[in-house]
Amino acid sequence: MSPPRLLVVGSANMDLVVKAPRMPVRGETVMGGEFSTVRGGKGANQALACARMGAEVWMLGCVGRDAFGEALVAGLASDGVRCDLMRRHETSPSGIAVIIVEATGENSIVVATGANGELTAEDVARVPDFGSFDAVLTQLEAPLPAVEATLAAAREHGVLSLLDAGPPTAAARGLVGAADVLSPNETEAKALLGLSPGAEFDPLDAAERLLAAGAPCVVMKLGAEGALVAEPDRRERVPAFRVEAVDTTGAGDAFTAALAVSLARGDSLLRATTVGAAAGALAATVFGAAPSMPTCEAVEQFMKDRGALDS
Ligand code: ADP
Repeated sequence: MSPPRLLVVGSANMDLVVKAPRMPVRGETVMGGEFSTVRGGKGANQALACARMGAEVWMLGCVGRDAFGEALVAGLASDGVRCDLMRRHETSPSGIAVIIVEATGENSIVVATGANGELTAEDVARVPDFGSFDAVLTQLEAPLPAVEATLAAAREHGVLSLLDAGPPTAAARGLVGAADVLSPNETEAKALLGLSPGAEFDPLDAAERLLAAGAPCVVMKLGAEGALVAEPDRRERVPAFRVEAVDTTGAGDAFTAALAVSLARGDSLLRATTVGAAAGALAATVFGAAPSMPTCEAVEQFMKDRGALDS
């Protein structure tokens, strides 16, 4: 069986991570420890995760004409992601995140969107043979007009579309009904519904409200509580797989990517959500984002071990 073809439209960042004994106060310099550069960005993470899940992945994104841009594209290509559609912006630098990790493990992050902010609806319109993809997956880290154009093009060409609603953005409320599958976590659902981050949260009630706002299908990510699938005629909980979680960074990206690849293969929504939950659980057992994205073989073996293969 040939692998499903997926288009991922989104961000690619270079994360500049430095360890420090503590956060500097304003005006202060603190001597830090180990420094590392790690490829990130929600779009690139999900593209990598989709490739690990066995899909033929094409990524549309925008990086700068700089060393980080080169490294981001080369890295994606080495992960097996097709980068022919990646644009290099003439003047804007590649997107970066400066991340200070304190000895306590807490981190503070400043993101400079850079070239990611230059991705346009025209870039989406230039994608050749849009109708040849089995699914498109996008997130809210790319400019909204590009996300909107992606979802509109998918509708126009009859291609299945998934919107990962992260990072939380109230400005994306108009996109609730634009994707075939909307996948938020709690904070993202709150942002889309105009609720404050501290508000009481009832997943079922939030899903009802997203459906009422026009979403055809909601797959809500609920961490160790699993996921909730909601369509106009059904509401179903998909339990989490019990694992020894060490770092849930990247669990959401692994979940959405596995959900997308599974749906693109033609699996049912429930089956695809279970595959997503397995990928998310496996990602939670490994430190970091990119290193924790599981392969389709690992997910299949895990589901087999847990007796979930035929669900
Ligand atoms: P996000 O990172 O976007 O907040 P979640 O933390 O909800 O996403 O993780 C996505 C999915 O991964 C969950 O819906 C769940 O199926 C799985 N998952 C996440 N954390 C755990 C965990 N600690 N144990 C088991 N499964 C988990």
